[in-house]
Amino acid sequence: MYFQDLEELRPLDQHNLRLAANVRPEGWSNPKPRDSYNLVVIGAGTAGLVTAAGAAGLGARVALVERRLLGGDCLNVGCVPSKALIRSAHAVADVREAAQYGVRVQGEADIDFAAVMERMRRLRADISPHDSAARLTELGIDVFLGEARFERTGLVTVGEAELRYKKAVIATGGQAAAPAIPGLDQVPYLTNETVFSLTELPRRLGVVGAGPIGCELAQAFARFGSEVFLVEAEHGILPREDPDAAAIVRAELERDGVRVLCCGRGLRLDEKSGAIRLQVGSHGGNYDVVVDRLLVAVGRRPNLKALNLEAVGVAFDGTGVTVDDHLRTTNRRIYAAGDVSSSFKFTHAADAMARIVIQNALFFGRSKMSALTIPWATYTMPEVAHVGLYESEAKKHGIAIDTFRVDMTGVDRAILDGDEKGFLKVHVKKGGSRILGATVVARNAGDLISEITLAMVAGRGLDTLARTIHPYPTQAEIIKRAGDAYNRARLTPRVRWLFGKLLALRR
Ligand SMILES: Cc1cc2nc3c(=O)[nH]c(=O)nc-3n(C[C@H](O)[C@H](O)[C@H](O)COP(=O)(O)OP(=O)(O)OC[C@H]3O[C@@H](n4cnc5c(N)ncnc54)[C@H](O)[C@@H]3O)c2cc1C
Repeated sequence: MYFQDLEELRPLDQHNLRLAANVRPEGWSNPKPRDSYNLVVIGAGTAGLVTAAGAAGLGARVALVERRLLGGDCLNVGCVPSKALIRSAHAVADVREAAQYGVRVQGEADIDFAAVMERMRRLRADISPHDSAARLTELGIDVFLGEARFERTGLVTVGEAELRYKKAVIATGGQAAAPAIPGLDQVPYLTNETVFSLTELPRRLGVVGAGPIGCELAQAFARFGSEVFLVEAEHGILPREDPDAAAIVRAELERDGVRVLCCGRGLRLDEKSGAIRLQVGSHGGNYDVVVDRLLVAVGRRPNLKALNLEAVGVAFDGTGVTVDDHLRTTNRRIYAAGDVSSSFKFTHAADAMARIVIQNALFFGRSKMSALTIPWATYTMPEVAHVGLYESEAKKHGIAIDTFRVDMTGVDRAILDGDEKGFLKVHVKKGGSRILGATVVARNAGDLISEITLAMVAGRGLDTLARTIHPYPTQAEIIKRAGDAYNRARLTPRVRWLFGKLLALRR
């Protein structure tokens, strides 16, 4: 496949040519395979890249196979381009809200969507040398561009090339799946693989799926000026998140002009004079709207088809490759990491899994996936970040917890910044200080969650966070406030009575 044929690289401007030169170099010829590799890694997204680079750094002989673009989803059609767009969307909101800070802007923000997208393409190309064929080769990795297929245990082929291995890693990720929506096959639609190639702002945009990707992009496009219709499923916006957090995000999306069509029951699509008609049944009324472009942001399916897993006895199902806690598949010599084998579909989770695989596959390690504490974030404004247990999960599993909630309205820096919509909830083991989970809703929730994650990983409780001095004024003080709330709760009436007596004696 030529890089010119790849949808992800459209438009083929100077930035995407620069990206291609790094992640799919023109005229690339695969190296001559060595006699045998310690590790053959299939897929060069985050999981594959980290596995290959880490293993090569430790002296392993490694082959890395990629059929499309080195860097995988995150660099090319995921985290990187989406966060670049979100930054531009923040700029729009800053202009829109400037008056509340005493800054008068003449007229309305004039959004140059083509420039927004060009900025994204430029920055993506700037970041791409890190995942480039040249860098990987420098690290001593044999890079094969092409589709990998297992022939038998110990042998993977890439076209004519035969790669013999001691251990192999499946890191093939996933892709947007076409959900079973009546009429979807009759209308053109965008996915994460094509939406970042747009150069013209859709006047009306339908977004199907109100998970993280759907919400982030719906808000960004609404801020750019599209009329956005977000089809929310039965279970609501950000269904995985704390319902209070999801409610704030929903209100903010609506404030940005997103029309939330609740709920996606009975969604039907068809073409109407060159546009796309979206019909949704709901409790609150039926919707019948017409949009110019449709983004489907619901459902992912693992990339397994080409791998010929039957030949090597690797078990899989519709959600991906089956692995044990050590990330080993049902074939002892084959491991899997990243989106293809995990419900934690995040770049940092893929990275963490890759590190487990290196230890377990190459060094008889016994590292376990279940030992990881994995936080995640949705980059709407405000952001929502979470780690550990949700309240609902604790309830479901009969785990007794105390929850400490602090609202951003009580945090000076949030007031000064105009960022009062948010909160922190920390769940601790009932009667103790051990943190079992936390949700943050804040401008930089994705950054704030790391302190709590660190406490959990280090086995430190909310009492330690209460003792930790936070610079004033910062939004991170909300974490200390939760610690203070915990300390206050420890002050039982009896302890308070004792303190009162002691202080009376000392007067
Ligand atoms: C729009 C969007 C935004 C996102 N934002 C974030 C975010 O902000 N933060 C975050 O943590 N995560 C985010 N994610 C998720 C993140 O991108 C993924 O979790 C991450 O890319 C997973 O990495 P991976 O290595 O498992 O798979 P991938 O990145 O999918 O890489 C797998 C690679 O394997 C290749 N491959 C597949 N089959 C074969 C084969 N047979 N032979 C050779 N190569 C093959 C594919 O071409 C691909 O390049 C986002 C995802 C999307 C879609």
